[in-house]
Amino acid sequence: GGGADPPRIRRLEESVVNRIAAGEVIQRPSSAVKELIENSLDAGASTVSITVKDGGLKLIQVSDDGHGIRFEDLPILCERHTTSKLSAYEDLQTIKSMGFRGEALASMTYVGHVTVTTITAGQLHGYRVSYKDGVMENEPKPCAAVKGTQIMVENLFYNMVARRKTLQNSNDDYPKIVDFISRFAVHHINVSFSCRKHGANRADVHSVSTSSRLDAIRNVYGASVVRDLMEIEVSDDNAGDAVFKMDGYISNANYVAKKITMILFINDRLVDCTSLKRAIEFVYSATLPQASKPFIYMSINLPSEHIDVNIHPTKKEVSLLNQEHIIETIKNTIEEKLRSSNTTRIFQTQA
Ligand code: ADP
Ligand code: MG
Repeated sequence: GGGADPPRIRRLEESVVNRIAAGEVIQRPSSAVKELIENSLDAGASTVSITVKDGGLKLIQVSDDGHGIRFEDLPILCERHTTSKLSAYEDLQTIKSMGFRGEALASMTYVGHVTVTTITAGQLHGYRVSYKDGVMENEPKPCAAVKGTQIMVENLFYNMVARRKTLQNSNDDYPKIVDFISRFAVHHINVSFSCRKHGANRADVHSVSTSSRLDAIRNVYGASVVRDLMEIEVSDDNAGDAVFKMDGYISNANYVAKKITMILFINDRLVDCTSLKRAIEFVYSATLPQASKPFIYMSINLPSEHIDVNIHPTKKEVSLLNQEHIIETIKNTIEEKLRSSNTTRIFQTQA
């Protein structure tokens, strides 16, 4: 027998490895925006402003009024695996910040041009510095700055021809970006968000800090949505180690929409949970067969040891202990709420 000689195995160059990994963390412009907003929130910002050009391919700029970045940290800011949020693996179990891997900024420098302007409290001026492939392109330059940090990402995927082509051909990412920001604005009601296209006068999302969740939803999704929402809440501490709390707003039978809006935060992280979403859609179509697709805002809180935040490269999915039980409980709560509200509605109509 004996076929051809096996091909030689070679070690990839580090820059190739980094670019491949970066493409996984930053899949599209909207994933860069999400990472930047999460950094601003982790930095304690109360205002986050976003500007986007060409669906984020030409420019993404995120400005915040958070705590800023120390001058002495700027040299390693965009290296892979540098973070102020995690030091030991065990910290993952109790971590409250959205970031923890120190990969987002680094990744952006491997697939785009990143410029950071930042100032910390008590300083007379800030610094501006650009990064490429993880390192500073020049010494940080002193510059005028107000409170916080501004991060600018230009020419995203300039060195990934296929990715850029696909994104240019598909519908642009701007609606996805607006969608992310709208979701953050509904959950983080103390933060004011704005998002606009570069050069536009009008913002496409503009939320103001409020103490009312319904005000926040009204701000972003409009008064007509809020009119058809009902509050839900469940707190389950009977099962001992399955303690969880959920609160939120769900649409009633009068709400009309072509597709489901599902805004889900688990332990303050914006995530997707396909099985929960399916379960909720099922409850709606079973309980209110005539009703349209629902609007759901839901915030779930679990003990941090019940949630694994590290299962997905973009942290988009998390895995939950006792997921079936949690979904079942939420399903039952929604079903009850829908049934009681539907009866009320019929009474009202008959009256
Ligand atoms: P991670 O968020 O996982 O720590 P990132 O690459 O997103 O990793 O950010 C690296 C570090 O840069 C953060 O840990 C934080 O200290 C700092 N940083 C990034 N963005 C900001 C910001 N907007 N304000 C203050 N510090 C920031
Ligand atoms: Mg981060």
